[in-house]
Amino acid sequence: MTPKRILFLMSDTGGGHRSAAQAIVDALEREFPGKYATQLVDAIARAALPPFNHMPDWYLPVVTYAEPLWDVGFRSTNRPPVIRSAQPLLDVMIGIRLRRVLRAETPDLVVSVHPLLTAHARRSLRAIGSHAPFVVVVTDLFTAHGLWFDPKADLTLVPTAGTDAGARRYGVPGEKLRVVGLPVSLKFLARGKGKAEQRAQLGLVPDKMTALMVGGGEGMGKVYETARAIAQARLPLQLVVIAGRNKTLKEKLDATDWEIPVSVQGFVTNMPDWMHAADVLITKAGPGTIMEGLACGLPILLNGYLPGQESGNVTFVEQSGVGLLREEPEEIARTLGEWLMPINDTLARFSARARELARPGAALDIAAILDDILTSRETGI
Ligand code: UDP
Repeated sequence: MTPKRILFLMSDTGGGHRSAAQAIVDALEREFPGKYATQLVDAIARAALPPFNHMPDWYLPVVTYAEPLWDVGFRSTNRPPVIRSAQPLLDVMIGIRLRRVLRAETPDLVVSVHPLLTAHARRSLRAIGSHAPFVVVVTDLFTAHGLWFDPKADLTLVPTAGTDAGARRYGVPGEKLRVVGLPVSLKFLARGKGKAEQRAQLGLVPDKMTALMVGGGEGMGKVYETARAIAQARLPLQLVVIAGRNKTLKEKLDATDWEIPVSVQGFVTNMPDWMHAADVLITKAGPGTIMEGLACGLPILLNGYLPGQESGNVTFVEQSGVGLLREEPEEIARTLGEWLMPINDTLARFSARARELARPGAALDIAAILDDILTSRETGI
């Protein structure tokens, strides 16, 4: 039987959208080997008109150097009338060439994991005469931008109750909405090795407390400054700093003489190993990294967030009792120092709560839902 074709619309603006899509692809392959032909398309790079097709390249500089502008843009566009009027614009910017992509790919099912690829993408699909179901997988944890929500999408899958409430406010009907968690790599499910063994395998000191610091796929935020503050405080731990795709940051970290053991990494493809080796996670409020951290039972120290887009993720972490936001590097070092005191039970409490909240099998649940949709269409149930 020819495998059914599932097309994932995503974009490499940050690392989270690709990670989420890839997790679902892997889950489909594990649960239904050979049944589906999946494809990930960076629809912004491939279909948006110039210069918007270069958005994956300018995402890091824009959110780094024009953060206040990004915030204003997020807030001013996050209103129903603006969202409605943005649709024709998005159609011109992306939709026209997206129809070509959709015609070429002839998908049996389309899954969007990006807020700029929802309502107009669904209309593009219908415009080429396709009746393929259109599913949106939201990757923001609390206050997702209204652009995510398309009441006419066949199904919207959201990670948390907070995002579910947001979707309802934007008119997504309850029967087309399900809370499933955020899809993270299935490798976060396995808890095979102990921490010491995992650390030894990664070249770390096996029996030393380990803090893992990440700035999303792009190495964003105050990664360097925070690492310096922790090292200068000479906290009794080793630090792993993952610079992601940020080469300048990696070079700067490499060229530094550290006061404590520090392992500097560029973009890693084995994040589950690093997280399984760690005792605490320091990160900007990226939804992918947060949910991966929870899957590994890691307490979370947020060192920043992208205003607007990631503000809700901070609320999620703090309200859920799995971590705190501390924006100043010295404050982060001080907080970590307090957490490491023998009488302090914060790390144990946050870690237990993280395990309770984690949904490491979300990708498997989503794979089962997608399979259901396609199977019931085939059998007419
Ligand atoms: N990531 C990775 N290797 C790296 C840095 C990050 O695989 O070196 C992954 C990380 O595990 C997560 C994603 O990139 O799945 C980052 O997503 P998040 O939502 O946290 O932030 P974004 O980069 O989208 O802003």
